[in-house]
Amino acid sequence: MKEPVAPYVTPRTGELRLPVQVVVAVAGVSYADPAHDALARDVDGVLWELCAGTTTGRPDYAELHPGRQRETMENLRCAGCNEPAARDGRGMLWLLPLLDTVTTSWEGVRTAIPPVCEACAEKSPRLCPELRGGHVQLRVREAEPVGVRGMLHPRPGEPGVPEPGAVVGYDSPDLSFVVARHAVRELRRTTVVSFTAVAPTQGLRRYVPALRAVAR
Ligand SMILES: [Zn+2]
Repeated sequence: MKEPVAPYVTPRTGELRLPVQVVVAVAGVSYADPAHDALARDVDGVLWELCAGTTTGRPDYAELHPGRQRETMENLRCAGCNEPAARDGRGMLWLLPLLDTVTTSWEGVRTAIPPVCEACAEKSPRLCPELRGGHVQLRVREAEPVGVRGMLHPRPGEPGVPEPGAVVGYDSPDLSFVVARHAVRELRRTTVVSFTAVAPTQGLRRYVPALRAVAR
């Protein structure tokens, strides 16, 4: 049987994080190599993870490729195929894994998962083991960019180790200390279109820490 095509944002085992040295100073994080640093800063001065490798190998459904996640999330394109995400009178279409940390309305949920088109919303739960354990389809009228998710470094002299998967708002003083991996939007004025709940699977339990939409 032909292997189904993995979603656009799903990384492959051939894609790697570029091994660059991170320097933590009082002013924040930077890359030791100024050329890498300049390449990785966005217009707001946020430092982003740099990607390397090729789109070859097995898909890792528990992850989101940093470059393609950011591209689709910023441009509101489909996570599955990079075409424009679906819109109707109730807003833009989002497909999220079930979580036990959000309200039933899913109002105000913060997520790193980009929106989808109609065709990908239909086929993604079959293709993606991470959605098979249950998912919700939402229509969303407002999806404001609110921050990033990435590796949050302790300030110089502070105890602790870098925290992966930290969600840091654009208004947070921690923003200078994070190496961003994913863009995060807050979904508001939401309408639940459908809700598919099945017994949690191994896949869902794996999925939730890696890709969780972060409830306030
Ligand atoms: Zn699509």
